[in-house]
Order: sequence, then C-alpha cells, then structure tokens
Amino acid sequence: MIELVLLGAAGRMGRAVEEAARGSGGFSVRARVDLAENFRGLPGVWSDDPAPHVVKGSVVVDFSVPEAARSAAALCAERGAGLVSGTTGLSPEDEAVIRQAAGRTAVLRASNFSLGLAILRRSLAAALAAAPGGWDVEIVERHHRRKVDSPSGTALTLADDVARARGLDRRAYRNGRQGRVGARPAGEIGLHAVRGGTWAGDHNVLLAGEGEWLELRHVVSDRAAFAQGALAAARFVSSATPGLYSLEDCLVTAGREV
Ligand code: NAD
Repeated sequence: MIELVLLGAAGRMGRAVEEAARGSGGFSVRARVDLAENFRGLPGVWSDDPAPHVVKGSVVVDFSVPEAARSAAALCAERGAGLVSGTTGLSPEDEAVIRQAAGRTAVLRASNFSLGLAILRRSLAAALAAAPGGWDVEIVERHHRRKVDSPSGTALTLADDVARARGLDRRAYRNGRQGRVGARPAGEIGLHAVRGGTWAGDHNVLLAGEGEWLELRHVVSDRAAFAQGALAAARFVSSATPGLYSLEDCLVTAGREV
C-alpha cells in the first residue's frame, strides 16, 4: 500500500487525485494538507503543516502553490519520502530546490500529467523533424478563469521542446503581441494564454508554412486525466532510487511507451 500525503488537497487537483486514488487499489491517503480555512469541516485527516505526516516511504503529491512546493521538496529530501511535483509557475530558485531534493530522494516532476500530452510531445517532435525549419510555431493555451500563472507550465514545456529542436532558447519566446510590433521575425516562438470559464487545460501547437498550417491539439476535459498520471508517478517514485524523473520515464517503465 502506498501512503500518499496530498499537498493542496482541498484544491481542484488535490480532490481529483484523492478521488482517483479511491478508485484504484494500492493507495491510502495518510494526510491531506492545505490552508486551514480551505479544509474546515471536511472529513479525513487534515493539516496545514506537512511536517508531521511526511515519513520515509510515503509519497507527497503536490498540486498547490510554489511556496508550498518548495518547502515540500526540502521536507521530502530530509525524510526520504518520494515526491510527485505538479505545481506550475515555479521560479528558477524553486526549480533549483526541487533539483537539489532529487539528489536525496525520488522526484517526478511534470507540468502536465496526462497521457495525451505525452503523446502530443512525441507527435510534435516528429512534426518538427518533418516540417521545414522556416515554419512558424505558435502555442495557444486555454485555461479556466482561476488559473494564476501564465503562460501555463505545459505551454512552456512545449515551447522548450520546440526551442530544443530548433537550437533556440527562451529568448525566442514571444508572450502575446500588442500594438505595432512589426512583421513576425523568423525563429520566434509565440505563446498565447486564453483565460475563461472552466477549461481544465487545452494546448494547441500551430506550425504555419506558406499557404498551409497544421495544428496539434490536446484537450483535458476532466482532471481525472492528470490524476491518473499523478498516481502512476506516485507508484513509480515509491520504488525508484533518488533522482529527478519525468513522466516519460514513468510511462516507459509502466510499459505505456507511446
Ligand atoms: P487550486 O487553487 O484549486 O488548488 C490549490 C490548493 O493549494 C488550494 O486548495 C490552496 O488552498 C492550497 N494551498 C495554498 N497554499 C498552500 C500551502 N502553503 N500548503 C498547502 N496547500 C496550499 O489549484 P489547482 O487547479 O488544483 O492547481 C494547483 C497547481 O497544480 C497549479 O500550479 C496548477 O497550474 C497545477 N496543475 C498542474 C497539473 C499537472 O498536470 N502538472 C495539472 C493541473 C494543475
């Protein structure tokens, strides 16, 4: 039985992970951690402090906020607990703390835990290899009105994939356009964030050539898609040696090579 500590447990993703864990054998929820005002009156073991609950062999599943993600990573390293890290909008300093923790415990970090997005990334690599290098790439993401970071972590992951394939870096990213910006320079990677309604996550990568374009799009209509991936990641880190892993590592190990 894998014991989970859910960080951000009262949030949209925390609740989706708990529901998925309930429906799939092999997991028990050791504790739910959130801000006290968000869990008042809810059933189960709740706390606003992960420290008493994170023990060796347990797995912290983090979908919360950057400050909590950062301190949970340090705590997991100290206690020898696994970490599934899904919070987005982390600063380079937060990312460094997570990398450091991975020197002492197993950490799987992904900006998007859905299987479909892993498939999209493979498809994108194939499309970029086949398309002329001069084709323009624009990424349009849509999320619910309550999302606080922009562009989404997934859009940045996709832009990083494009940059790597094209020999570019983050200086090529263009976050939206406004005013008289002039013609689109070659080698720019456009990122556009749409916010509204209740969209769980929608990423569209456009590759535009002369007189034609193609779109690779992935839509999450139910957070269960993220939650199932997070549980697969929890299974993976519970038996992995210390290191920083990606969802790709977990899918290959689980025989889900896409
Ligand atoms: P949400 O706002 O619904 O939930 C976040 C929860 O974290 C809230 O309940 C909040 O009270 C809690 N929280 C705030 N500070 C905390 C602290 N110090 N300790 C513990 N809990 C704290 O947000 P959400 O939609 O569930 O998303 C959470 C994060 O996960 C966001 O960064 C989002 O972008 C990311 N996300 C990642 C994936 C992925 O696949 N990697 C998928 C969806 C969302």
